[in-house]
Amino acid sequence: MGTCDFCGTTILFGGVKDNDLRFCNDKCHQSGYPLVISRDIPDDIVNKNAEEVHKGACPKCQGPGPIDVHTSFKIYSLLLFTSYNSVPSICCRSCGIKSQVGNTVFSMLFGWWGFPYGILMTPVQIIKNVAGIIKGPDKTQPSEGLNNMVRLLIAEKMVAQQNAQQTASN
Ligand SMILES: [Zn+2]
Ligand SMILES: [Zn+2]
Repeated sequence: MGTCDFCGTTILFGGVKDNDLRFCNDKCHQSGYPLVISRDIPDDIVNKNAEEVHKGACPKCQGPGPIDVHTSFKIYSLLLFTSYNSVPSICCRSCGIKSQVGNTVFSMLFGWWGFPYGILMTPVQIIKNVAGIIKGPDKTQPSEGLNNMVRLLIAEKMVAQQNAQQTASN
């Protein structure tokens, strides 16, 4: 048993394997293609790009850095239905806190109204947000999360370029 490296769904049996990556089906394998090739991007290229993002201006508010991945957590419920997820975004600390506060309020309003997961998971999501608000990522260097996201962004750019070249040559 494992989880799909693209969509995070639990794979009970089967699935598509690509080296040490696993996907639930061909569609996820295809969508996860940047993930597959991102493994081959050398660390120093990733680190250099991550450092540039880290030192650069915030993509959301154009304010000064440091820029890193700030994840906020939200949940909403409707009777037996509960949906919760984490939303990572590359931005400055104050934009990160803004979305963590926003999603805390959102979860407080809409999280509880499902049984049992709404009641169980709403405090968890709120605590995760509060933890992020209290303690941000290390200001002096890009976090592991930022490195991973930058690695994927580079891979996505490579795939887009490949596709553009293919369209041009057809
Ligand atoms: Zn999947
Ligand atoms: Zn910002």
